[in-house]
Amino acid sequence: MAERIDGEPVLSLSEVGKGFHGTTVLDGISLDVPQGQFVALAGPSGAGKSTLLRLVNGMHLPDSGTVRTLGENPAACSRGRLRALRARVGFVFQQFGLVGRLTALENVLMGSLASLRLPRYGVMSYPRAVRARAVEQLDRVGLAELRFQRCDTLSGGQQQRVAVARTLLQGPELILADEPVASLDPAASVLVLDTLKRISAEDGISVVCSLHQIELALATADRVVALRGGRLVLDEPAADLTADRLRAIYDPGETRAG
Ligand code: ADP
Ligand code: MG
Repeated sequence: MAERIDGEPVLSLSEVGKGFHGTTVLDGISLDVPQGQFVALAGPSGAGKSTLLRLVNGMHLPDSGTVRTLGENPAACSRGRLRALRARVGFVFQQFGLVGRLTALENVLMGSLASLRLPRYGVMSYPRAVRARAVEQLDRVGLAELRFQRCDTLSGGQQQRVAVARTLLQGPELILADEPVASLDPAASVLVLDTLKRISAEDGISVVCSLHQIELALATADRVVALRGGRLVLDEPAADLTADRLRAIYDPGETRAG
């Protein structure tokens, strides 16, 4: 497995282009993310955010330019190497991806790549030390108390935090989150993002998180990168940005008119 050289960005895109069926979806994207940084990926629907995240973990390969993720170039990886790379990259989805009839602890233990079938002896099939680490991750997202509760009885925000704990058990070096709070109410959204931010800071894990709520992006992220029509149109420290400037990315026409 390739290791990052000290100081090398966790993630580095250079002049990346990607299209589907002759339509350009991403064009000339260059972006370096250092270790521990929390990046909000903003931009309107269809801007290319999900495609960019998929390029980072090798679910898509670029048509042009290069992607380096954790010192690896997914386009040059064998199948096995790509699998090893993906195991180092946590992915959190809008729809949580949990098995509703299983408990929070079972979901964390099974991991996101597991089959839907629990081992024969349930959570007891896992070594005690692994179970303890799973409970620890649930504790970090504030849900240790609810570990024996079925996931389909948890709120959306609680389910997303279970998904974060599940990702953490795999010891990711980078977390990609694709609209993780798009199905949540505002209070739950803040809690999920604050949890991700705290863990990113505590563990030095870089996070790239697509978000369409401008205020949440500004409140949570260290840095905001915005796409529009497949191009990178803004890349600045969150502290230097105003909500109005970011809003203009979503609807430049309105700004011109106003
Ligand atoms: P976002 O996440 O910002 O909403 P996406 O990356 O999902 O944007 O999509 C960007 C554009 O690429 C959209 O026009 C979408 O229809 C298109 N697209 C994304 N994935 C595919 C695919 N697998 N095949 C064809 N078109 C795709
Ligand atoms: Mg998307």
